[in-house]
Amino acid sequence: MKLNLKKLGAIAIIGYSLIFNPIKTTKDYWSFRRNIDQHVIEAISLQEKELGIKHQGRPNVKFRRPPFEGVYLAEANYIPWTDTIHFDSFLPTLFISTATFGLCNINYRGVLHHELGHFYCDKIRERNNIAFSNNQFTRTIEEGIAEYFRRSIRSEKAGHGSYNRWYNKVKPVIEKEGVEVIESLVISPDKFINAQHL
Ligand SMILES: [Zn+2]
Repeated sequence: MKLNLKKLGAIAIIGYSLIFNPIKTTKDYWSFRRNIDQHVIEAISLQEKELGIKHQGRPNVKFRRPPFEGVYLAEANYIPWTDTIHFDSFLPTLFISTATFGLCNINYRGVLHHELGHFYCDKIRERNNIAFSNNQFTRTIEEGIAEYFRRSIRSEKAGHGSYNRWYNKVKPVIEKEGVEVIESLVISPDKFINAQHL
């Protein structure tokens, strides 16, 4: 067989997609999952130090999709009524990674920082006896806060347009008023959005 550049390129792409990427995905997944307690402890202490906040306890973490219909698991989900961060189980993770040539690989540490932002908001709601409701105000504010947590710690850019928008709405408020404002944002998201045209 004569190898030309085209064939070599094709072999390289197939090799990456079918061998190297799945091997890397498998390694990253199990390394994160095996050490999840340590990752959570480290992420919490980093957030407390860098952001100047105080977390109330620790969330549960599960490596399977949330056990009910209607929840779309993008990278992970935080479920407020069980205080649980859900990552996906191994086989769907491997399948998604392989089928998308690694484009949908999860940056676990970044996602964990984001989900801890949801956990932080949830504890504020619980302390103030506010029921969780998934409306546009809550979504804008809490996704913005979760992204603020992730990007402040990890200096990462978002992939999604909506996450950028939510982040850019919430970030200036927190930077101007300090992290203490997060409590008011979570308690009255509608007030902030209406008052400041967020
Ligand atoms: Zn989120």
